[in-house]
Amino acid sequence: MTVMFAGVSAPVRFPVSNRLEKFCATAEFDKPTLVLDVDRVEQQYHALKAGLGHADIHYAVKANPHRDILERLIALGSHFDCASRGEIELCLSLGAKPETISYGNTVKRSVDIDYAHRAGITMFSADAEEELEKIAEHAPGAQVYIRLIVELSQADWPLSRKFGCDKATALGLLDYAKVLGLKPVGFSFHVGSQTRRAEMWDATLDRLAETWNAAKDGGHELTLLNIGGGFPAFYGEAIEGPTDYASNVMALVTAKFGHVPRVMAEPGRGLVAEAGMIVAEVVLTSRKSDRDMHRWVYLSIGRFSGLAETEGEAIRYQFVTPRDGDPVGPCIMAGPSCDSADVLYEKRPMNLPLTLKAGDRIMIKNTGAYTSTYSSVCFNGFPPLDVVAI
Ligand SMILES: *Cc1c(COP(=O)(O)O)cnc(C)c1O
Repeated sequence: MTVMFAGVSAPVRFPVSNRLEKFCATAEFDKPTLVLDVDRVEQQYHALKAGLGHADIHYAVKANPHRDILERLIALGSHFDCASRGEIELCLSLGAKPETISYGNTVKRSVDIDYAHRAGITMFSADAEEELEKIAEHAPGAQVYIRLIVELSQADWPLSRKFGCDKATALGLLDYAKVLGLKPVGFSFHVGSQTRRAEMWDATLDRLAETWNAAKDGGHELTLLNIGGGFPAFYGEAIEGPTDYASNVMALVTAKFGHVPRVMAEPGRGLVAEAGMIVAEVVLTSRKSDRDMHRWVYLSIGRFSGLAETEGEAIRYQFVTPRDGDPVGPCIMAGPSCDSADVLYEKRPMNLPLTLKAGDRIMIKNTGAYTSTYSSVCFNGFPPLDVVAI
């Protein structure tokens, strides 16, 4: 497809392979915009569901809370994992049933637990005694699952030690939940976001199954295993297709835990990332000196306006430009703000066409997850990432 842009004298070419890319290559945008193809979310939902067997999908709303995505998922019968009162209100307002929503954040304000309980939410997570006490007081009798810490993550975006607790603590919490009149139903964990291959779950599942078995031996009747997210999106490195990945994970879960009556899976990235493409533009290209090996390429979007996951440079987005096919060279990529942390790729520069210049449109693939929600409201006067669904 050949497209003319104002300020560009020669026709420029974008390789366009689907509806989303075509829209991104041809529509007019006056600021960085995330374009979402909600049909693509639906396809991915079916593909994951086909591999997940009897597991329920609880979409992790924080990955992208756009109402068109939530409405489509509600229509498809998806369940939801919410982390805050705001996310719960949003899902309920769009028609989700409270019994399909789990309140999966282990760090909740009492007033929000109280709200969720009154709204009909019955499933809560916890990884500490104090959290169980809050739940027991404000959502008496609720079902709780205990979040286990994952120390063997092989993910590109691991979730650190912020969430979960170790085996001994978890077993103690199951007992304590009973004392408090709650219903401890099982465990949850998160293997780490962007875990590229199912086999990377292996060591983590082995470790967690020890806790599961110890709890059963201790007389707890466990019915629920929440396997969290971690389902990958394609950023250029090979991943398994969604159905294969999900069924391989479920095979591992069954091998290590036996038949679990209720399994929850909470894909965020793996469900929505590939349904989104960001359109931005090159604002400046430069070299810092005559001898500079690297070109600098400054974009209209940066770490504070949607590309926060470039932190650490483990998530490496794929860029599409009208000059693809021209000779490439290493480029350091940065955002537009006056903050020195607003550099996207520097440790491992990106190879981009050396003909790229100010005014060129640039499209960023598979950016439907963790972009719009990470965009600051207006840092440095730059507009937040706009979102349109097609
Ligand atoms: C963020 C989050 C998810 C989604 O993780 P992905 O790696 O994007 O799939 C799932 N569960 C919980 C509890 C989360 O906090």
